[in-house]
Amino acid sequence: MTDFAGLKLAQPILRAIQDEGYTTPTPIQSKSIPSLLEGRDLLGVAQTGTGKTAAFALPLLHRLSKNGKKPESRKPRALILAPTRELAGQIGDSLWTYSRHQHLRSTVVYGGASIRPQIQAMSRGVHALVATPGRLLDLMNQGHVKLDAVEYFILDEADRMLDMGFIHDVKKIVAAVPQQRQTLLFSATMPKSVQGLADGLLSDPVKVEVAPAATTAEKVEQKVMFVAKDKKRALLSSLLEDRNIKRVLIFTRTKHGADRVTRHLHQNGVQSEAIHGNKSQNARQRALKSFRTGNIRALVATDIAARGIDVEDVTHVINFDLPNEPGSYVHRIGRTARAGAEGIAISFCDHDERAYLLDIEKIIRQSVPVEEDHPYHAVDIANDTSPAKHPQRKQKQPRNKNRGQGQAKGQGLNQNQPRNPNKKRRRSNSQRPKRAA
Ligand code: AMP
Repeated sequence: MTDFAGLKLAQPILRAIQDEGYTTPTPIQSKSIPSLLEGRDLLGVAQTGTGKTAAFALPLLHRLSKNGKKPESRKPRALILAPTRELAGQIGDSLWTYSRHQHLRSTVVYGGASIRPQIQAMSRGVHALVATPGRLLDLMNQGHVKLDAVEYFILDEADRMLDMGFIHDVKKIVAAVPQQRQTLLFSATMPKSVQGLADGLLSDPVKVEVAPAATTAEKVEQKVMFVAKDKKRALLSSLLEDRNIKRVLIFTRTKHGADRVTRHLHQNGVQSEAIHGNKSQNARQRALKSFRTGNIRALVATDIAARGIDVEDVTHVINFDLPNEPGSYVHRIGRTARAGAEGIAISFCDHDERAYLLDIEKIIRQSVPVEEDHPYHAVDIANDTSPAKHPQRKQKQPRNKNRGQGQAKGQGLNQNQPRNPNKKRRRSNSQRPKRAA
């Protein structure tokens, strides 16, 4: 196995990696970095937790510092696009960490935070800009960001980006980036829509796949528990009596569901917080910090709020609700078993969710083992053999019928589309009430 020294990265970068305690490149790093240093485009099929951020950040920093060009005001030399604030923030932190021995400037811009410091940072000029699409377009429209000097363009979590309905924004941004550039696209799954985007963006890319598309992290032990909807909370409480569940991420389908579960946990003496699209950025950051530092044992999240969360030592993921979009399942369980650790993912499945389970098993290409050994095991759900015909699934369609083309089909977007758009508008500086980022 190669070590970092064999990857021909500049000394200051190697020092920063050493400071971080990295000794061996992860598979995606050893497969990507040599080609990226040569300037090739790249299509990376990888989930978070594989070390993909360093895989693109290290060669980027190497190339940015190598030709020594200073960035002009408002004109970043590298643009990294991420679907959520959390992911953008984490990429920004990584860039900062890996460039700490270099004279490179980077900044992060996203919605829901004051735009003024972002404008100031852009005015001073940055080598690398990490952005969510909505806020970046706002800044471009106001003339604070110009993309005509971008040499490196990285699109992270492209599948999430499309799920969240960002395709039109992405296209506008791509149109503003020079044709002559190095482009990287990362995605955990490779549906046709992402492949189409990649075909249009990448030129003769190197393809690096660290786990076959949509297979689940091998180290995650998965289980499904069949349980009636009204028994889910009781089942959760009984599971949490097990102190081996030290740090647990609990997923719900809706924001209200997340609040309800959190209230229930409080009543049962389990320290927990909820993060979802109705929480302010500050509240989300605070909750994440408490979770990271171990002040709370459980973090209850909706899919979008949880994207990009990088918390080490999440021992368990509990799907209180199964996602109706199977790709989300892969993302969710990837939050445990990060950076080589082991993890357990437990999914509750009620009668209405049997069809979702089938969809999930199709894309992960395995059946999830059933755990019957719990007090709320529902035999009727376990024996239901015609879940695909279940009416609940059909009822989902009309609710989404007004959605514009290119917007998400999954539940994620719905979660982030406020029922009352005015409410959201008041909360956000951005004029983009439908956008989470
Ligand atoms: P990512 O997939 O980029 O979200 O990275 C997942 C985690 O792995 C982060 O906490 C990184 O700090 C960590 N990491 C990345 N590369 C390495 C490496 N070569 N050795 C050890 N940890 C790493």
